[in-house]
Parts: sequence; C-alpha cells; structure tokens
Amino acid sequence: MSDRYKPLLLVLSSPSGAGKTTLSKKIQQSDNTFKISVSHTTRQPRANEVDGVDYYFINTEKFEKLISSNSFYEYCKIFGNYYGTSKSSVNQITQKGLNVLFDIDWQGSKQLGKFKELNLVRIFILPPSKEELEKRLIERNQDDQESIKKRLLAYSEDIKHTKEYDHVIVNDNVEDCFKKIKKIISERIGS
Ligand code: 5GP
Repeated sequence: MSDRYKPLLLVLSSPSGAGKTTLSKKIQQSDNTFKISVSHTTRQPRANEVDGVDYYFINTEKFEKLISSNSFYEYCKIFGNYYGTSKSSVNQITQKGLNVLFDIDWQGSKQLGKFKELNLVRIFILPPSKEELEKRLIERNQDDQESIKKRLLAYSEDIKHTKEYDHVIVNDNVEDCFKKIKKIISERIGS
C-alpha cells in the first residue's frame, strides 16, 4: 500500500502551554477522519478531565503490567509520571481507516519513529518565546507555581529536540499555525 492510502499518524508535540490542545481540537473539528489517540497515564486527573476521554488514568502497577506485556508503542516518564500510547488505542482508530492524532512529547515521537511501517508525520509547535510561554501558563491558571516552574524547565529540554521532527511551526497566531498544519496534512493525504 502506498503511504497515501495508509492512515496518517500525525504527532503534535510542544512545550505545554504552546497551544497544542487548541490546535488538536481544531484539526479534529475541521476533519472528522482524525481521531485523537487517548494515552494512558499515572498522573492524577485535573478537575475537568474525564477518564477514557482525556486519558486512561491508571496506577503505576497497572502501567508497569502494560509495559511488561509489550502493550505500548511508546511510553516514558514525564514530571515523575508515566505516559504511554497503547497499541490498542491506535489500532482501534487505524482499523477503521481513520487517521490518528497524537499529543505526545519528543520521547514518544522518537520511539514511534522506530516503527518504519507507520505513516508518520511529526510536527513540533513552538511558542514565540519562553516569556510568552510563561505568560500563557500563568493565564490558563491550570498549574500551580511549582508545576509552572517544572514546565518552563522542560521547555529548555524540549527545544533541544526540534530537529527530530519533520516540521517546526512557531505558534504566534493560532489561525496561521492551524493553516500550516492543514497544508502539511493535505500534502500527505490530499484532503
Ligand atoms: P499533561 O500532563 O499536561 O497532560 O501532559 C504532559 C506532557 O505529556 C505533554 O507534553 C504531552 O504531550 C505528553 N504526553 C501525553 N500523553 C503522552 C503519551 O502517551 N506519550 C508521551 N510520550 N507523551 C505524552
């Protein structure tokens, strides 16, 4: 099968606060062939998060069992918690002939890259600057000060990995950024 007819696996990575959640919602709303891959995590749910929708929230013991049974395409630890993409979450989508959207970090993106049979396109979304990222994290009022500090530290690590992506887009305007992503998608699947 040529890549043009294989489900497209679109990875969107970014430092948290760079607008990735908004962008992935816009992609799904504009094209119903894209379904988000729901990851497993051991972190605690946030107030507005729903199990099975935002993540599958499981404990460390269960997560480690899934690791042992080779159930993940990729997994890693971020901010002290496990995060992973199960093979079954992805396969459920691709078996329907649909495209998959991943909101995962650079470690996961790198691990997915090892599966050469996947029709993968990897995009890294950058905030315009570290100062702007800090402003957005404070404004969204979702994380405490300690967590914001951790996320800003992670930013410095994240941006070292942009060269491992197929495309890097600066999100200084969400609509412009969205158009650039749509262009990349249509070049790959012709929609
Ligand atoms: P949050 O805790 O803010 O939901 O996510 C923290 C980070 O974990 C984000 O950068 C997000 O992209 C990443 N992430 C979420 N799910 C996965 C996953 O399944 N695998 C990997 N590698 N990263 C993930």
